[in-house]
Amino acid sequence: MTNLRIPGPTPCPEEVLKEMSRQMINHRGPEFAELLNDVTGKLKQLFQTKNDVFLLTASGTGGLEAAVVNVLSPGDRVLSVSIGVFGDRFAAIARQFGADVIPLNYEWGKAADPEEIRKALDKDPDIKAVLVTHNETSTGVTNDLAEISTVVKETGRLLVVDAISSLGSIELPVDEWRCDVTVTGSQKGWMVPPGLTMVAVSQQAWEANTEARMPRFYWDFAKARSYLEKGQTPWTPTVSIVFAFEVALDMMLEEGLTGIIARHARIAQMTRDGVKALGMSLFAEESHASNTVTSIAAPEGLDVKKLLKILREEHQTVLGGGQQHLMGKIFRIGHLGWVTEEDINMVFQSLVIALPQAGYEVID
Ligand SMILES: *Cc1c(COP(=O)(O)O)cnc(C)c1O
Repeated sequence: MTNLRIPGPTPCPEEVLKEMSRQMINHRGPEFAELLNDVTGKLKQLFQTKNDVFLLTASGTGGLEAAVVNVLSPGDRVLSVSIGVFGDRFAAIARQFGADVIPLNYEWGKAADPEEIRKALDKDPDIKAVLVTHNETSTGVTNDLAEISTVVKETGRLLVVDAISSLGSIELPVDEWRCDVTVTGSQKGWMVPPGLTMVAVSQQAWEANTEARMPRFYWDFAKARSYLEKGQTPWTPTVSIVFAFEVALDMMLEEGLTGIIARHARIAQMTRDGVKALGMSLFAEESHASNTVTSIAAPEGLDVKKLLKILREEHQTVLGGGQQHLMGKIFRIGHLGWVTEEDINMVFQSLVIALPQAGYEVID
């Protein structure tokens, strides 16, 4: 079996995959209503929220677009805090829909500084919302979302969070941290295939929604809410993924959120220790290193493309490369969702053999 260790899509347990082959049901019938209510309720527990949670049929980026168009109007001023590829994408979506985006960009590999966010907000009282990535998958960095939230909420701005690769794996109590729109995606930490994005919407986000004038049809939270009251989604959902999700959520609740978060922390630490034991360096600043994906700076002499090819072809191990200007400069090990220590041990057993073949002599 392939050891798929990229930060999404992630492997799915057999029990989950089996659900995907179930016969279709009426998505406007009582059986689906029961399923949707059950899945939504379980998600709320894992989001640690009492607010609305919606399932939208899309990959994570669809959820980010939904977040933007449901709380903003063209011309609204937005602070975009970006520490990598996905932060830049969030800003691009807002810009595309006519927001006046003020960028606050950080060197890739670093986390955002909450004090600088405070300064940017103090300087510009017209900023209505802050877009921020909780866990930047492209660099393997987790932002201090609790601190960022404190700063953003002191002045009542909207906090819109890309938690696609963190929610359900890394601590993120959505209500306690007062996130207004929080987005995640099924294929990251949730042990199901791609196809669903899940969003939580706070009371303050609903207030913003009544004023928001960005164009939207498919991604309309108000429609999602009125249909959910009937146990439905406005449009035909990806029924098979919802089947699978119910089983995956049961597995998650059985392990318990605390247990899941602790497992991710433990496996991430083990991964970082393993990288260093091979004489390599972490790309992310270690104080903010992610517990769902580890980025490794390519050491002198290493051909990353060759390494990934050897791992894939000779070790059935799939790791992630670097994106955009990090291509060839880093590689990434995904450890989120259905992952055990054994999976990571196998990665290191393969790395010890493949690294020298790709130009890096492992230091013992
Ligand atoms: C994966 C990911 C996305 C993009 O999600 P898609 O499902 O590929 O659309 C956005 N943000 C973060 C942080 C991600 O990890």
